Order: sequence, then structure tokens, then C-alpha cells
Amino acid sequence: MVKIKSKGEIDKIQKAGSILSRVLKLLKEAVKPGIKTLELDSLAERAILTAGGLPAFKGYRGFPASLCVSVNDEVVHGIPGNRVLKEGDIVSLDLGVVVDGYYADAAITVPVGRVSPLAQKLLFVCREALMAGIRNAFPRKHLNDISSAIQNEAERHGFSVVRDFVGHGIGRALHEEPQVPNFSIPENGLILEEGMTLAIEPMVNTGTYQVKVRPDGWTVITQDGGLSAHFEHTVAITSSGPKILTEFK
Ligand code: MG
Repeated sequence: MVKIKSKGEIDKIQKAGSILSRVLKLLKEAVKPGIKTLELDSLAERAILTAGGLPAFKGYRGFPASLCVSVNDEVVHGIPGNRVLKEGDIVSLDLGVVVDGYYADAAITVPVGRVSPLAQKLLFVCREALMAGIRNAFPRKHLNDISSAIQNEAERHGFSVVRDFVGHGIGRALHEEPQVPNFSIPENGLILEEGMTLAIEPMVNTGTYQVKVRPDGWTVITQDGGLSAHFEHTVAITSSGPKILTEFK
């Protein structure tokens, strides 16, 4: 069952979302050559707690940190540690915040110093794919309209979208129904309704869409070693269309 949220509930998700987007902005400014991924996690956790939220990922199914940090060929769910970011890397920062029992989830991928033209294009296209998906989050459209818009945007630039991990409903839990794939499944005809809240999150690769999980049991990497980017927003479907609850200011 897809849970429909009231205006009051959407306001609560937005409260979590505004803390989240402020923390992501802080993290983006902190990313530079020489910083350890663990330092970004500590920064995120402290900033969330100071703002009155709780980190939603810490302890989720045993995940050991507040922030997922995925570098270069790492797609999602990278565990922060002693890895030092270096010039030319791209780093995805995926964060969840809960306030008063309501969840928000968002991700950005940022360049570390100067990056290759291919990496720059990947970041641009992945973000555009997210926005193309969000532009379809209207009542009476189909869920698959979001999915195919994302896929089309990524593939028309020669990139691929990950199949094994998808977006999701969100609100009273971090992961709710429905699943929100980043690739078209025409029979996925769920009709979008006012009050649905979705975490839309394309993962876009430069090479194959196929991925595998490292022996740590968490870190998802591209099978061919190509670069991967990830952008995510939590979005409410309102009568007038999509409302981004994790707007990055
Ligand atoms: Mg998510």
C-alpha cells in the first residue's frame, strides 16, 4: 500500500528535508582534496544532531555511519572510513534525516577539485535526469512516466541507469512503497496521487549499468570500473505538481 500523506505530514517531512539540505550544503563546501570520508560523516552527524534531527541511516540494517560516501566507481552505500579524497575524484554524499518520526532522504555527487570532462558531464546528466523525473511527479500521471523520463535523459547522453537499486516511497519510514525505478517498466502503471511522497534517485553510470557489491556487504560498485553518480530528492506530489522537500539552496 502506498501511504498518502496529509499536508501536516508533508510539512514534517519538509522539516527533516530542510535540515538535510542544509547539511548537504555544508558537506559540499567541506569536500576538498585531502579530506577523509570519515571526517565528512562526523561533520554530517554533528550538524544533524545540532539542528535537532537524527541521522536516519545510522544503524539502519546495521549500516555503521550517518552518511553514505561513494567515490568514483562506487555507486551507493559506501562506508565512510580512512579513504582520503583526491583531486579528480567524484564523491556521492547520500544522507537521511528523521525529525519527529518523519524521514527525508537526498543525495548529491560533487567533484573534488578539478575533474575530467567525462566526470563533469556525468554529474550534469545525472542531476538533469533527476529533474526530468521530478517534472513528471504530477497527480494522474503514471509512476512509469518518472522512470522513463530519467532513463531517457541518461541514455540520450550515452550513459546507463542502474537497475538493481531504485527509489522509493518515504515519510513515516525511510523506505516505503512504491519502488521508483530509474528505468522504464511500461506495466508499472501505478497512478500518481496528491499526497504521495517519493525519494527519486537516479544512479547513472558511464559504462555498463551492471553493479556488484563489495565483500564489505554494503558498497555497490560498477562492474566495469566506470564512474557512477547519484542525485536524489524527496518529493511530494501536490495538486499543483511536484514539491521538492529537500531543496538544495
Ligand atoms: Mg533513497
